[in-house]
Amino acid sequence: MDEFELIRRFFLRDDARDDVPVGVGDDGAVLRPAAGRDLLSVVDSLVEGVHFPAQLAAADIGYRAVAVNLSDIAAMAGRPRWMTLALTLPQADEQWLQDFAAGLFEAADEYGVVLVGGDTTRGPCLVVTVQILGDAAAGQALRRCGARAGEGIYVSGTPGDAAAGLALLQQSAPDTDAGSYLMQRFRRPSPRVALGQAIAPLASAAIDLSDGLLADLGKLLQASAVGGRIDAEKLPLSAQIAAQLAPGECLDMALHGGDDYELCFTAPAAHADRIGELAAAGPVALSCIGEVVAGTELICRQDGKRLHCRPDGYRHFGNGQQP
Ligand code: ADP
Ligand code: MG
Repeated sequence: MDEFELIRRFFLRDDARDDVPVGVGDDGAVLRPAAGRDLLSVVDSLVEGVHFPAQLAAADIGYRAVAVNLSDIAAMAGRPRWMTLALTLPQADEQWLQDFAAGLFEAADEYGVVLVGGDTTRGPCLVVTVQILGDAAAGQALRRCGARAGEGIYVSGTPGDAAAGLALLQQSAPDTDAGSYLMQRFRRPSPRVALGQAIAPLASAAIDLSDGLLADLGKLLQASAVGGRIDAEKLPLSAQIAAQLAPGECLDMALHGGDDYELCFTAPAAHADRIGELAAAGPVALSCIGEVVAGTELICRQDGKRLHCRPDGYRHFGNGQQP
């Protein structure tokens, strides 16, 4: 199977859409953006052994590669539309490709994204790069830089679950209901695309959680030139993480664990009620976990006492870690 045969068999689909006059098969794709909307572009690579363990199922790798990009679109209040896929493979294993494509298209179909092109190469380890293009009402994309002192800090879902799940995956821990749920949160993130669009008129700034709550919130606060305070007792923990880990470990996972792909955002106090209504009506919990403050520091308190926690997240070329 050469590269062209591979593309034809696994990535060429019969999914014509008006906004894709030319898709997979030509030198490039031709896309037709909607008039009067801004174009959004995000891209993320998943490297085997760095972003996911080598034993992760092909379908989960495909799903995740799309989901993590959708999460960036969600954080900008965008509507996802098109994607490209650059795939580097050590070998062309047909079963693997079939499963990978099934997971990839499952996520794409769920969120209305069409694969419009890509690149396929052989290389020493598996690298999956997905780019997603989307759109937002002109000038309305949500950014990291709008937070102001006095606003509330919110988070969706229950952070920490995916990191707890990854730890279980790596230990090949025996299956429990709680453990399976947590592992599934790592394998199949739920990008908060509808939520991002819903909070756009209410939020002042947003970021999605890929590196950990403190690390990512830190980036939002830095971009906004403000500080923040988190109240640890307000952090929403899932029943499953609480069943699996000791309270201190749960807190550590919620503050530092990556891969949740939840949204963290700030909003003025005047919007608190409407955010509460959104949470009550929607499929995902929204929790106010602290407040934006003046200054540049992000501090974390528990029952009024300051916790000393590391503000780090995953850095590819920092902390002495090997990429
Ligand atoms: P070129 O050599 O002109 O860059 P390629 O032979 O790399 O073209 O690709 C042929 C067509 O297949 C292009 O439309 C390209 O976008 C598409 N393509 C290549 N790899 C993939 C992939 N992994 N998924 C989807 N489309 C792909
Ligand atoms: Mg060409």
